[in-house]
Amino acid sequence: MATQSTGLHIVVVGAGAAGMMAAAVAARSGARVTLLEKNTKTGVKILMSGGTRCNITHDTDSKGITEAFGHAKRFLQPSIGKFGPSDVIAMFHELGVQTKREETGKIFPVSNRAVDVRDALHRSMLDAGVRLELRCSVQNILPPSDSSPQWRVSFDQNGHADEILCDRVIVTSGGRSWPGCGTTGDGYDWLRALGHTIVATRPALVPLVGGTDATHALSGLTLPDINVSVFTPDHRSGKKPKIQRRSSWLFTHFGFSGPAAMDVSGVMTACNRIQDSDMRLDLIPEVGEAQLREILGLRSGEAGKRSIANILQQWLPSRLALAICEESNPANANRKLAELPNKDANLLIENLKRWHLPVNGTRGFAKAEVTAGGVQLNEVDPRTMQSRLAEGLFIAGEILDVDGWIGGYNFQAAFSTGRAAGLAASQTDND
Ligand SMILES: Cc1cc2nc3c(=O)[nH]c(=O)nc-3n(C[C@H](O)[C@H](O)[C@H](O)COP(=O)(O)OP(=O)(O)OC[C@H]3O[C@@H](n4cnc5c(N)ncnc54)[C@H](O)[C@@H]3O)c2cc1C
Repeated sequence: MATQSTGLHIVVVGAGAAGMMAAAVAARSGARVTLLEKNTKTGVKILMSGGTRCNITHDTDSKGITEAFGHAKRFLQPSIGKFGPSDVIAMFHELGVQTKREETGKIFPVSNRAVDVRDALHRSMLDAGVRLELRCSVQNILPPSDSSPQWRVSFDQNGHADEILCDRVIVTSGGRSWPGCGTTGDGYDWLRALGHTIVATRPALVPLVGGTDATHALSGLTLPDINVSVFTPDHRSGKKPKIQRRSSWLFTHFGFSGPAAMDVSGVMTACNRIQDSDMRLDLIPEVGEAQLREILGLRSGEAGKRSIANILQQWLPSRLALAICEESNPANANRKLAELPNKDANLLIENLKRWHLPVNGTRGFAKAEVTAGGVQLNEVDPRTMQSRLAEGLFIAGEILDVDGWIGGYNFQAAFSTGRAAGLAASQTDND
């Protein structure tokens, strides 16, 4: 059945996950939609995401998704509540992309091809009637005025400056991470000029720079299950860490990477000085401290004849087992358990359960999977994504002050907020 045209013309800026979703939904709801994208193709971040496999969402419910977004949890509840992970999966199935759940709960296309996800979204919006303009770099967005009752979006296309008039604008131009993808934070200036507050942006889901000679020597080593805790200066008074994540970990030549390190990075970049945050690693979360104390306390008989490194190797790769022995005392690398001084046993336990790892920076926006900070959330209606400051202006996706954990959470937020914006922007007063 053909959708009745609403007569509204909507311009969407940015053809990422949020923008393509918003454009398709708005067009299907009867609006005339023009999507402007500065790149030569749509969905550049989708194509590179998840190691080019695209982790589209996570196997949890809407509540499980919003839990991953810290302060933005309440803001995201209405849009993700209306369009949660099962809806995203159903949408892709309908678009011909079968999905699978991996052990970690991440949802990927069965094909393991991010391009299939991008192509499905791209086709879906073109089929809905969206007019797509590529190589079209938006320069400014001006609100309706007495002389012009419509929104004016000025852009540069192939070196040619022009502008387009419309009834409503949806800004989905993303953050400023991985700027080579086209995400250079352009939208912040337009929205600031329209009265919005931009919460200071900082890299999140970003590898951490730091470590010691011992950790650098472990470069390339992945630990599938560790528990990392971060205490920040504003949070040190309590015994509880500001953030704790249990997941996999990667030692690198510059510091630390992998899901757990990246998940805690956003909290660390929020510190005035990242060096003041205190990061501790529990290398064997499945072994309690009391149990560990008991095992290392068995110094007599056969147990005492085992080498310390050998005991640690039941839980840790040999390189790391040796490094941890040496951290407590270089002599311990060759010692038997019976020879372990009590003081060193305590240090060993400390390093196994609370290894303090220095961090002095991050790899920055160049290697950050998302941008923390952005359009202040109390200035946007969480049900419609309409600006509370400018009627007819809608804002969705990563340009908002939202950033979630690794695992498909960020695409889920982009799809849900994009959909909410597309639906609301295409409504007329008569709807
Ligand atoms: C390496 C990497 C891997 C990732 N993997 C995953 C993953 O597997 N799962 C997950 O959930 N998240 C992942 N993310 C995060 C995810 O890509 C983002 O959260 C998501 O793309 C945000 O969607 P968006 O539509 O808001 O913005 P974007 O996807 O960034 O899209 C914004 C679009 O706006 C365009 N644009 C910007 N300025 C202008 C302008 N002036 N004029 C016209 N167009 C403009 C940009 O070119 C871009 O196409 C990954 C990110 C990176 C960098």
